[in-house]
Amino acid sequence: MNDNKILLSANEMPSQWYNILPDITTPMAPPLHPGTKQPAAASDFAAIFPDALIAQEFSPDSFVDIPDEVREAYALSRPTPLIRAYALEKRLQTPAKIFFKYEGVNSAGSHKSNTALAQAYYNKQAGVKRLVTETGAGQWGSALSAACKRYGLGCEVFMVKVSYDQKPYRRTFMQLFGAEVHASPSDLTQAGRKILAEHPHSPGSLAIAISEAVELAVQRDDTKYALGSVLNHVLLHQTIIGEEARLQMEKAGAYPDIVIACAGGGSNFAGLGFSFLRDKLRGTNTALRVVAVEPASCPTLTKGVFAYDFGDESGYTPLMKMYTLGHSFIPDKIHAGGLRYHGMSPIVSHLYHDKQIEAEAYTQQEIFEAAVLFAETEGIVPAPESAHAIRSAIVHAEACKASGEAKTILFNLSGHGFFDLGSYDAYLQHRLIEHKSPLEHIQESIDRLPVI
Ligand SMILES: *Cc1c(COP(=O)(O)O)cnc(C)c1O
Repeated sequence: MNDNKILLSANEMPSQWYNILPDITTPMAPPLHPGTKQPAAASDFAAIFPDALIAQEFSPDSFVDIPDEVREAYALSRPTPLIRAYALEKRLQTPAKIFFKYEGVNSAGSHKSNTALAQAYYNKQAGVKRLVTETGAGQWGSALSAACKRYGLGCEVFMVKVSYDQKPYRRTFMQLFGAEVHASPSDLTQAGRKILAEHPHSPGSLAIAISEAVELAVQRDDTKYALGSVLNHVLLHQTIIGEEARLQMEKAGAYPDIVIACAGGGSNFAGLGFSFLRDKLRGTNTALRVVAVEPASCPTLTKGVFAYDFGDESGYTPLMKMYTLGHSFIPDKIHAGGLRYHGMSPIVSHLYHDKQIEAEAYTQQEIFEAAVLFAETEGIVPAPESAHAIRSAIVHAEACKASGEAKTILFNLSGHGFFDLGSYDAYLQHRLIEHKSPLEHIQESIDRLPVI
């Protein structure tokens, strides 16, 4: 039998996260204070984040030690398996070798636990009592609820309304771990009430939910805010994925030609991709291709503009230079709720602008076709978000078939789809709704970008 799983023991788990910042040699635009529009100081983040995380946000070190308590927490489900997709390769009749890193093996079911555990740990160390956050599809809220419970912190979650309705068991999961969950927009905050007054049936968006969470966090002394993607420290924590994958690829005697991951705010993409991109940035492997995959109806990199924008709807967050569809953009109600974000991590955006990475976008129909093919062959039901990466891997594997090249493809299977069976039902019953022309919406919200 082919041994398709490449595993690491707990003791082989990397002891450091990789910080890509020192390897980026072109100047990056700093975050700006939302009021003064001058470069934001570290202290501007103090109301919402503990010092240790702010320090990581601006860290000049290439590697950052993972605290022992966090490694112990990781060890419940890490190192995660690297799997060679022999069955998928065979079905596609491709000469390509396809590997994937499977981040769906923890109970919350996605890569988000990697940063949730780290963030809850540093907040606990700083004496914080409670974290407030937003969640799109519910994976981040699930991961943070479980992490807060582990470290004895309270947790309050603003869940984007459309997901709150589409994925009720995600809410139950968060409540099981003691979190308080609100559908967003809610009437608990000014930001939510303003949206509800204008759009009583608003499906919500991550940008709105972030405004609500930040608003509550700054009002309470014992409470901080936690973000599940986008920021530098979140990307840093996710690099445990790529650091493990490097060791595992080495064990397999392989090295990727193409690294692929879906991108919402960019953290799982960074998590797998940055550890390999390091070789490209340091000039030891300039041919490496690293591909971010997004939904055609929320095409931040492929159709957005590179500009300063807010991370949230109300303009509470610092302005970040990033690819954005505009903070007022309300994405279509696609099933990959975790990819419905108007912006993209500033680091990922910068690398895209510098042409160090590539981007692709696929429709819901395309990603569900890929998801079902993957489930049939590899026996794992993927999260609709992760299915974007699968679709791309299949496209590249088919290109290999056409050209006869035996490339090595590595993608991140960022999570499982067991809470997404309602979405699979919509696909199987031909009830997927494709957004026909998001471009006009995108232009409208881009026209409303802040003037710097
Ligand atoms: C949140 C989520 C994503 C998107 O993650 P980013 O790190 O924000 O790009 C992808 N896949 C799954 C399963 C998710 O839960």
